Amino acid sequence: MAIALVTGASRGIGKATALELAREGYTVAVNYHHNIKAATDVIHHIVEEGGKAFAVRADISDEAQVLAMFDSLDREGEPLIALVNNAGILFEQSTIENLSAERINRVLATNVTGYFLCCREAVKRMALKHGGKGGAIVNVSSAASRLGAPGEYVDYAASKGAVDSLTTGLSLEVAAQGIRVNCVRPGLIYTEIHASGGEPGRVDRLKSVLPMQRGGQPEEVAQAISWLLSDKASYVTGSFLELAGGK
Ligand code: NAD
Repeated sequence: MAIALVTGASRGIGKATALELAREGYTVAVNYHHNIKAATDVIHHIVEEGGKAFAVRADISDEAQVLAMFDSLDREGEPLIALVNNAGILFEQSTIENLSAERINRVLATNVTGYFLCCREAVKRMALKHGGKGGAIVNVSSAASRLGAPGEYVDYAASKGAVDSLTTGLSLEVAAQGIRVNCVRPGLIYTEIHASGGEPGRVDRLKSVLPMQRGGQPEEVAQAISWLLSDKASYVTGSFLELAGGK
């Protein structure tokens, strides 16, 4: 058995990914920020299905908490072979005139710094030169990195642009170390993140502009992440998978 760490795994895409990876046989480290009850529910669900999981608390934007989280993984006695950088935030829709420095910094701290910190700690454990067994990382970006989210959340879109660049650079940096780094770019997926953006009904409002005429389910993203982490994708690195209904 080996560990897959999924950040922000207590709900939405992260939860669906944790459930899917447990079915694939990973021991899943369910990272959560505040909601231990939701994380515990995910673990119960996995255990009921015959899988293995444990919870790890950390605000991924806080370096000390990330270090403590990875230290706790080290104590599990199984190697870390997969990381899903999924935890992300966005705030209410706003034009640039009203974007405060505090808001921009908070978005970047989670969506960019948090991803960097988790990648760094994962590479230290996975890289062949550090005695690791190799592994795979999937970064959850967004269609917003291509589309820009004008008038809504350009801060969020820009943070996801940074995730894309991180994926490209890191995939090249660690390719010879047995580590693959890939990226998924979901479009409109039915999760609670849209309520944080001030519009719970966003997916239904916009789905008609999509070629497929529907929003996506978290499980559809989870399947793609699972494939990218698996040996079935053993020659895939530095790639971007669009999960956006055709747009
Ligand atoms: P969600 O809001 O349901 O889940 C996000 C999770 O991240 C939550 O559990 C939250 O507690 C956690 N989180 C937030 N900040 C954290 C922090 N600092 N430390 C640890 N955990 C933290 O949203 P979701 O839609 O499932 O989003 C998952 C990822 O998918 C995000 O990166 C998001 O940007 C991306 N995404 C979502 C959509 C969509 O339409 N839902 C589209 C494109 C990209």
